[in-house]
Amino acid sequence: MKFCPKCKSMMVPKDDKLVCRNCGYEMEKGEEVILKQNRRTEGIAVIDGKEVAVLPVIDVMCPECGNNKAYWWLRQLRSADESEVRFFRCTKCGKTWREYT
Ligand SMILES: [Zn+2]
Ligand SMILES: [Zn+2]
Repeated sequence: MKFCPKCKSMMVPKDDKLVCRNCGYEMEKGEEVILKQNRRTEGIAVIDGKEVAVLPVIDVMCPECGNNKAYWWLRQLRSADESEVRFFRCTKCGKTWREYT
């Protein structure tokens, strides 16, 4: 779903472009792809072995050391048929694990 940068109305596909139903603003569909990639990179950047303060903390028990606080985040796995998976990282020992559902 894409929204008009001018008036925030919903953009609808028209030929190879997206057009605002409200004000007529047009954009290339290519812009949409770039925005999606940026969003994904943001999600991965916080995991990369560094301690990132912006991650939310949740009450969950660490299977490694028994600490009951862990950072968590969502990550889309590579295979298309898997939905988002929740990952945890212990605030104490740094162990990272995924939530099994
Ligand atoms: Zn518009
Ligand atoms: Zn731990």
